[in-house]
Amino acid sequence: MTSITAALTRHNGADWELTPADIDDPRAEEVLVRIVATGVCHTDVGVRDGHLPMELPGVLGHEGAGIVERVGSAVSDISVGDHVVLSVGLCGECDHCLRGLPTYCEQGYVRNFSGRRPDGSATLRVDGAEVGGNFFGQSSFATYALADRRSVVPIPADVPLELMGPLGCGLQTGAGTVINALRPEAGSTLVVFGAGAVGMAALMAARIVGCATIVAVDLHRSRLDLALELGATHVVDAHDADVVGAVRAACGGAGADYVVDATGVAPVAAQAVGSLALRGRCALVGVYPPDAELRIPAGALFFGQSVGGVVEGDSVPKVFVRRLVELWRQGRFPFDRLVEYYDFDDINTAVADALSGRVLKPILRIG
Ligand SMILES: [Zn+2]
Ligand SMILES: [Zn+2]
Repeated sequence: MTSITAALTRHNGADWELTPADIDDPRAEEVLVRIVATGVCHTDVGVRDGHLPMELPGVLGHEGAGIVERVGSAVSDISVGDHVVLSVGLCGECDHCLRGLPTYCEQGYVRNFSGRRPDGSATLRVDGAEVGGNFFGQSSFATYALADRRSVVPIPADVPLELMGPLGCGLQTGAGTVINALRPEAGSTLVVFGAGAVGMAALMAARIVGCATIVAVDLHRSRLDLALELGATHVVDAHDADVVGAVRAACGGAGADYVVDATGVAPVAAQAVGSLALRGRCALVGVYPPDAELRIPAGALFFGQSVGGVVEGDSVPKVFVRRLVELWRQGRFPFDRLVEYYDFDDINTAVADALSGRVLKPILRIG
């Protein structure tokens, strides 16, 4: 047991509250990580607000970066002192994991949202009482986090560790949706609805793979301006009375070969589908409210168009996060442009700034 400080979510809708807590010692296949910094992702807010399940009171946070403090007896590929990014929990044994699609792990719920280890044991206590932990296999809104060895990604020690946490969720989601899931050919057209951190990662990835026309759609002028700097060739103001028409025009009239909806707003997802060219593919990556419905004309898919969800960019985090680190190092994936840093005890301000659209990707400096 180690004494830590954690940002506790007491109930749905509550502000985060920094509190002393105790974290378990690492079991055989676990790693104890001293968290240096952690990104804030909309999924943390979605859980706080009750759109996604998790045991509360509990500790959220799932874009942790830190330094390995202790390793369990069965961990051989990670060492004390390693710089690591924490990513999603996965079992490594189910059909999807074995086929290289661990973000669809059959134990995905229990390993990421149950608040406990797969055997039901708690990892965190506050005032001696068990609280929800192991969120996304980590619960990184804390000075220390426990993670299963399978979701711990060692990264080079010569890149700024405090920047890298968001690679473990939001950025691999956006970039992976393009690079791993949609796989656009060089010269094709790609549209991103929602130029937040996920959407910006998608359009930077579209530039990396050589899309010729890259369109960003958003409500905020400041985001559209940044999108143009990061790789968009065209932008469309989402206030436009005919967004779909404007997007199709930007794509040369035929519609888009590839579309990503990163808004989590179902009517926008319908616009995204409506923007597809013949044989176009639309990826839905947002967290939609549980009662949201996707309403599209059935004929919208007649000419070979398709639409489907993509989880965490179809990433194998131990491979893909490290690739994104190298692309960042080369200046080809400049996600540092999306980031603003906050002290740990300013967590509620960081979340408010993300929700207002003022900041794309807050990172909490923790230790
Ligand atoms: Zn996330
Ligand atoms: Zn699995």
